[in-house]
Amino acid sequence: MVHRIECHENSVPDIYFKRNLAIKKDELIDFISNLLSEGLKVGSVKNTIDNSDYFHLSFDDGFKEHLEIAQELKEIFGFKDDTMTFAINVGNSITFNYTGMDVLYEAIGKNGESALGQCFGLDFTNAEDDIIGKLKERIIAISPDEFSQIRNCLRLETKRLSALFLNSSEIRELAQLATIASHGMTHRDLTNHPEISQQEIRQSKRILEELVGREIQIFSYPEGRCNPQIQQFCKDAGYVYSLSISHQQDNPYCIGRFCITNHRKEIMRRLHE
Ligand SMILES: [Zn+2]
Repeated sequence: MVHRIECHENSVPDIYFKRNLAIKKDELIDFISNLLSEGLKVGSVKNTIDNSDYFHLSFDDGFKEHLEIAQELKEIFGFKDDTMTFAINVGNSITFNYTGMDVLYEAIGKNGESALGQCFGLDFTNAEDDIIGKLKERIIAISPDEFSQIRNCLRLETKRLSALFLNSSEIRELAQLATIASHGMTHRDLTNHPEISQQEIRQSKRILEELVGREIQIFSYPEGRCNPQIQQFCKDAGYVYSLSISHQQDNPYCIGRFCITNHRKEIMRRLHE
């Protein structure tokens, strides 16, 4: 699981590195080269489930640089379309209802952390507080309507936000190189407000299918969070696989992943054992 990739010097704000959500492009390429030279093979999601000799690359959140990295990985390694999955947050890329932690990072840069606390009705007087952690738990738990009301308070610049995410024509281009998955509409913990979650699991699939002209078979849970009810919604909506963080054996709707920034060293160590 990959989030942001620094393809050019200082192209990714520090907060993503601090929160372990960014990797430099050369490090990503080195890591993939190492996996391949250790004898692993790159394959589809199904390949990785059936055979532990395979790995699959998944990229979450539809960041602008994902198109560039897909082109480059294809050029270097000759990867086939089904070896890389790019999960698109439809709200951020297509319907422009910006949500999720990226919006929060953008807002922190603009307003400062304590001003944000007021927007969310949280009081950060204790210097020990993990402010981002607390804001995150709040932002991913509230309903899309509640978030819309807070969005005004955040004084966001949509121009800056739209520059952060792939747009429709870039997603179409990406679909020619790799597999497109849905990452939902509002990037929140879908186990909250389940009736809205069911709608967005279906709606995001339909919007992406219309955009790229092919079936969307994979759902990637925002923040990796799911429960049996949300897994069932994915199955009912017609997805074939869902990507999570935790893994449940023999459950195609809870496929675990390793975060590249947190687990890179551990994976290499295990391969050498
Ligand atoms: Zn995400």
